[in-house]
Amino acid sequence: MTLDRFGRPLQDLRISVTDRCNFRCTYCMPKEIFGRDFEFMRRDELLSFEEIARVAAAFVRAGVRKLRITGGEPLLRKGIEDLIELLALIEGVEDLTLTTNGSLLARKARALRDAGLDRVTVSLDSMDDTAFMAMNDVGFPVKNVLDAIDAAAAAGLTPVKVNMVVKRGVNDSSVVDMARHFRGTGHIVRFIEYMDVGTTNGWRLDDVVSGKEIVNAVNSVFPLEPVDPNYLGEVAQRYRYVDGRGEIGVITSVTQPFCGECSRARISADGKLYTCLFATHGTDFRQLLRNGASDTELDTAITGVWSNREDRYSEIRTSQTIEIGRKVEMSYIGG
Ligand code: SF4
Repeated sequence: MTLDRFGRPLQDLRISVTDRCNFRCTYCMPKEIFGRDFEFMRRDELLSFEEIARVAAAFVRAGVRKLRITGGEPLLRKGIEDLIELLALIEGVEDLTLTTNGSLLARKARALRDAGLDRVTVSLDSMDDTAFMAMNDVGFPVKNVLDAIDAAAAAGLTPVKVNMVVKRGVNDSSVVDMARHFRGTGHIVRFIEYMDVGTTNGWRLDDVVSGKEIVNAVNSVFPLEPVDPNYLGEVAQRYRYVDGRGEIGVITSVTQPFCGECSRARISADGKLYTCLFATHGTDFRQLLRNGASDTELDTAITGVWSNREDRYSEIRTSQTIEIGRKVEMSYIGG
């Protein structure tokens, strides 16, 4: 087990496979910044699947048990199921998952499952087409995401988790509708407080709808009770419906930070290791790999970075820290 300076073990690795996305969600890749002229990474800058698998195996040797594939939109990366197949072969991986906007999932779900993917998390910010299209900013309809969720469930990528970022005045009126739609389906909706990731989304504290408000809103229509976490370091606080029709999660990284148990590392698509979602710089593993580093050298590099880690951004967030430095964008690091 590899521990950081606060005794937190390295357990989860989130792997971004592309910085591109076909949505322009206003809180993640606003069109004004990520427009036609924006320069995304070149093909040769991205880690190859073999490089990703080598790094992932090194992280598993360091204690990681859970791998999550992210982007940008990971299903835009050509042949992604080949990467899943490589990662599924790594001994010691207990949970292999992927986060997607759902746009390409319906046609890929079966191949992903066959390649060895365990589960998916699908982002869906509203049940209302007007609000959802305004948020994804490319006119993508709710129904297509719902069809993708059905396809994922039919392929056995379960339980499907559905992530909703809640922004005040934009989609908070959809909270209860989301709960209503997914109650009794076996899918788990997770409501996420709107965060100040990156520097391009114009975040303001006033836009945050607290987890407490969200739970109260759902509870007033469908009574809830809290449930213990599934495991130490679980990000979402769990609540189940008193009538037994499933559960929801609330991710309160702004109003109730959980840095104390944060066990996640992140690798960007170009091979930089970040030890916090709000980091301002990463460690270049692509260079190590392409300079012919041995497995032992990779292991030493991972241990070296993690054992010096002292990130706890959300716990010390103030109006000053929000302004400091140039935090990496969510589309680059995978949320
Ligand atoms: S702010 Fe950083 S250290 Fe805290 S929970 Fe988020 S990723 Fe982990």
